[in-house]
Amino acid sequence: MIYRYPIYLENSMTFTEPPTEPIHFQKCNGYDGNNLRITNIVGYENGDFLKVCPHCNRTLPTEAFRLRTTIDRDQSWCIDCR
Ligand SMILES: [Zn+2]
Repeated sequence: MIYRYPIYLENSMTFTEPPTEPIHFQKCNGYDGNNLRITNIVGYENGDFLKVCPHCNRTLPTEAFRLRTTIDRDQSWCIDCR
């Protein structure tokens, strides 16, 4: 999990702590607790949010991505694609 709670998504979902059940939803953007822009989130499973890489189209845990803290957003492509 590379984000910080609370997680605010543009589908009106807010997570102040880890969800207790797996969740899946339509691809959505938002912000984390550090006001970092988070993108392409599609759910939560096994202790991490799930994010889609638009290059390889895989759905991966956020740990498969890095943050661009200098511009306050997550990286779009997964670490493998980059
Ligand atoms: Zn990728």
